[in-house]
Amino acid sequence: MSISRTRLLVAAAVLGLAGGLAGLSPAAAAGPPAPGSEGPTGPPALMPDGQVATPPAISAQVSTCPAAPYGTSSYAPGTGKTVALTFDDGPGASTSAIISELQSNGVRATFFNIGENMAARPQQVRDEAQAGYALGNHTWNHPNMTTLSASAQATEIDQATTEQVNLTGIYPCLFRPPGGSYNSTTLSLAQQRGMTVWLWSVDTEDWKANGSSSSYWVNRIISLAEQEGGVLSHPVVLMHNQPAGNPATVLALPTIIQYFRDHGYTFVDLYGRTSVLTTDVAAATGTDRALISNEGLRWRNLGGTLLFAPAVKVINGEPYYFGVGTDHNVWVRTDRLGWAKFGPSWTDCASSPGVTFSGGRLYLACTGPDRQLWEASSTVTPGTLPYVTGFSGLGGIIASAPAVAGVGSNVTFFADAPGGTVYTRTPSTGWTATGWHCASPPAAAQSASGASATFACVSADRSLWYDSYTTSHGWSPASRLGPPSAEGLSAAALGVDANAPRFDVTGAATSGVYTRTPGTAWSSLGGATVGGVALSSY
Ligand SMILES: [Zn+2]
Repeated sequence: MSISRTRLLVAAAVLGLAGGLAGLSPAAAAGPPAPGSEGPTGPPALMPDGQVATPPAISAQVSTCPAAPYGTSSYAPGTGKTVALTFDDGPGASTSAIISELQSNGVRATFFNIGENMAARPQQVRDEAQAGYALGNHTWNHPNMTTLSASAQATEIDQATTEQVNLTGIYPCLFRPPGGSYNSTTLSLAQQRGMTVWLWSVDTEDWKANGSSSSYWVNRIISLAEQEGGVLSHPVVLMHNQPAGNPATVLALPTIIQYFRDHGYTFVDLYGRTSVLTTDVAAATGTDRALISNEGLRWRNLGGTLLFAPAVKVINGEPYYFGVGTDHNVWVRTDRLGWAKFGPSWTDCASSPGVTFSGGRLYLACTGPDRQLWEASSTVTPGTLPYVTGFSGLGGIIASAPAVAGVGSNVTFFADAPGGTVYTRTPSTGWTATGWHCASPPAAAQSASGASATFACVSADRSLWYDSYTTSHGWSPASRLGPPSAEGLSAAALGVDANAPRFDVTGAATSGVYTRTPGTAWSSLGGATVGGVALSSY
């Protein structure tokens, strides 16, 4: 592993990861919509000072999106019958209600947000990302792109991208031109940024309700969605969540979802993702050294050959698995994209990796063959796998494997020195000894909101000890959870999910996985593992 503090984002196409995002349906009969038919967006959302947001300085971002086609797409990706619900112009007064309705139905969807509305309602953008919805670029302030110069069009796109990346750490690979109006310049600019240009094939004309929630408008929106969408195999449905709110859209949504579900459609977002996770994800290395994963029901075999226990982190509703291969390189996997190297081939990890997603960045740490802590970080782009060009050495002498989590506003690394004393540091501070002595690698995780974190390890008494941190109270006194009655805890097995918190461990006798939350008893998750277990909240 060489020292490099340079973090470049490399176009995924260079790595051979380019994949089709949007398959046009041969069964789709209707043509693309007429430009300019989306309707007006209404007044923008306002900042707390009552003003419209000013755009951010465009950061020097290189797209990490897969190669995008030149042209437009209007039909939902995926095989069988698929439907994509899309919500434009937000966030707005109805966004939270729309998220609730989608979540209660377990439905994937896509939000095309406007930059100045994101700036005024940042928490709703984070809520959309946290809940696993695809976020697309809909420009900074919704101009008719065909009236703008090439540089002005580029600025509109890049300001909205910067705002989204600043808020969520996730780069948009989807673009929808305001009103569906575009020219060849728009298409070239989007393609250069790896963005697929998405129009729609079903127009609910929901914006015409103009804030009304009357049954006339609710029924009209439902009728248009069913009549136009029901004859297509892959409809993309245009709806809105504008700053002033779209109550008729919210009221129509349950019926529209039920209609497509009853008619055999699978809900997808415009990245082609289907189901939304509703459980935490546990991961381990099976006795054949393949990655195994458990999302609440049974263990799945995800292939690969791992030297150590893996790490897992759910980002934007999708589990990302990290493992050290027999080449000592870190590899990353998602269900859609399979395995790829996370860094250059000289990357050399000698321990299980630790990962977290904090402040919009993915952080990965491992113990190098020199026994020092090494870390790398990256933004995350749906549709591609994260890749770093270098790791940074953070020193120390580490006995096992490190953990990393966001603690308050700082990304914090936890590592055990020979003898078991746990030390912590951030990327910019030195090592500090804690009062902890562990007989297992440390584990740590932060809550989705970032307001709390949990640290845990197995102590010499074969019990699980943990400590919770909140931004308001700091670290609390340590608590103890005894081992399962049938066996002691393995000293090399621990996962933490700080939302509940939930703890996963492997038993000392069987290497099976046990799970519990404070106040409950250990229950068996089954499985047969080599090394430890990793856990991520969804
Ligand atoms: Zn729009």
